[in-house]
Amino acid sequence: MSDCIFCKILDGEIPSAKIYEDDDVYAFLDISQVTEGHTLVIPKKHCEDVFDLDEDTAAKLFKAVPNIARGIRSAFNPQGLNMLNNNGSFADQSVFHVHLHLIPRYDESDGFK
Ligand code: 5GP
Ligand code: ZN
Repeated sequence: MSDCIFCKILDGEIPSAKIYEDDDVYAFLDISQVTEGHTLVIPKKHCEDVFDLDEDTAAKLFKAVPNIARGIRSAFNPQGLNMLNNNGSFADQSVFHVHLHLIPRYDESDGFK
């Protein structure tokens, strides 16, 4: 999708801080870190949101998540991690290429919630 920010990241047109990559999935640091290590996980195939996500792409996306989460834990040493996904502007989605937020949690003063 030519006007999609995350497709531009995948194409290398927009730089990103890579956390993980395989044939189907890419993970990178969110430009606006809610907490240190806030990561976005996206399928390489452009799907707008969960309603547009086919089962094969969903399976590939979620299959990568445990390794990415363990990598975040090793790198940033959080106490826990929230996983979020917004679908539709009414539900606070702002980039319409489906993505999971992996938000490391540190303590009550980590700035999230
Ligand atoms: P949403 O609000 O759609 O659930 O989340 C979109 C996320 O994408 C936001 O947290 C926002 O900070 C992040 N984002 C938007 N543009 C860019 C960008 O160009 N690079 C990176 N790394 N993150 C972005
Ligand atoms: Zn896209």
